[in-house]
Amino acid sequence: MQFYSTRNQSNLVGFRDALFQGLAPDGGLYLPENIPNLWDKIKYKDGSYPELAFEILYPYVDGEVSKSSLEDICQNAFSFSVPVNEIKKDHHILELFHGPTLAFKDFAARFMARSMEYFLDNNSKELTVLVATSGDTGSAVASGFHNVDGIRVVILYPKGRVSPIQESQLTSLGGNITAIEIAGSFDDCQLLVKKAFQDKELNESINLSSANSINIARLLPQSVYYFWAHRHIGKNESIIISVPSGNFGNLTGGLFAKKMGLPVEKFIASTNKNDVVPEYLKSGQFQPRQSIHTLSNAMDVGDPSNLSRIQELYQHDLTSLRNDIVGYSYSDDETINSISETFSENRMILDPHTAVGYAGLLNYKKEFKSNAPGVVISTAHPAKFIESVEPAIGEKIPIPNRLQHFMEKEMRKIEMPNRMLDVKEFLLTA
Ligand SMILES: *Cc1c(COP(=O)(O)O)cnc(C)c1O
Repeated sequence: MQFYSTRNQSNLVGFRDALFQGLAPDGGLYLPENIPNLWDKIKYKDGSYPELAFEILYPYVDGEVSKSSLEDICQNAFSFSVPVNEIKKDHHILELFHGPTLAFKDFAARFMARSMEYFLDNNSKELTVLVATSGDTGSAVASGFHNVDGIRVVILYPKGRVSPIQESQLTSLGGNITAIEIAGSFDDCQLLVKKAFQDKELNESINLSSANSINIARLLPQSVYYFWAHRHIGKNESIIISVPSGNFGNLTGGLFAKKMGLPVEKFIASTNKNDVVPEYLKSGQFQPRQSIHTLSNAMDVGDPSNLSRIQELYQHDLTSLRNDIVGYSYSDDETINSISETFSENRMILDPHTAVGYAGLLNYKKEFKSNAPGVVISTAHPAKFIESVEPAIGEKIPIPNRLQHFMEKEMRKIEMPNRMLDVKEFLLTA
């Protein structure tokens, strides 16, 4: 499969190049040249999650990764359970938080790390994976790449904007992982990463790659679990899927799945008050803003980079985009209400991101009087956001061992101002 840049259709590269470049040299984002319809092939199959992942991902790496290697990568990357639970009739929850860092970003990061490891050989120059994080990306990437030979990971995260548990996950691994705390917002961190990729001198001296959701290798594995959800709840019908969104990589994975033939009645772009995409769907105007701080902090994104991919997938046709996606946004108060109501009515504990998604599903079903089976993509374990979840439900929640373990370790971080010069100096000399 070839991948093209959103800035230039004739700029084609293979999977390996798209994986290591992250951003295309012209500053665009990579998209697959064609998205094959796989629905007829997989609709009646059952089997494990890694087997499904193999079926869906193989066309994108065909010619560059052998079948047996991709099977190994999938077995290895997706080695945890992916349950679909019922909140109430026709309202389901796809739990993507059973990986090592208890957030859905494990799916993308683990696939990406193993793909990079596959292509690197002993003679390769050390690879620096540079990543900006609003919380969970960094920990998933750190965990996915920890102790992978030939790769060092440098994480930029916004000071004071990630939860204590997230921070301990980012800063406690050590070894080939370095965490840098930037005095700025997530958007500032993301901008620093973009600048690093555009810096000629830097790219000539070090071998730089990205693990942000700009990387197509992160999006592809994020289309698999949409099929998985459908298999559990959809039978032959179309389903409704609510995606708690920030940078819109998760939703883009869902749109790929739909293009691969998955029957979807509607995607719901559920956001917190960083609502530039719901606003865009309403008004047709995309107006990026500074992000604001909310309880669902992994979705505090004011200028989501995947929107340009989504627009490209729909050939910039707002009408067909609106046909497939509806947007809703919720305040922190509404998020807390969603958590406490779901707990009192259904005894289900949601984290703040998932709570935003569930509010979106309820809203859509009511507004459009739809009886189709609906699913919320649950992006994080509630224990990761214990500060807001416990008061909302009025009960203590148990902290899983894996999280406890992170919190007991020593934090190691480097503090830096929001300045390219400092980041560059570190990358060149550390
Ligand atoms: C990253 C993240 C999101 C947002 O996903 P996008 O792909 O950036 O839209 C939602 N919830 C959690 C817990 C996350 O870590």
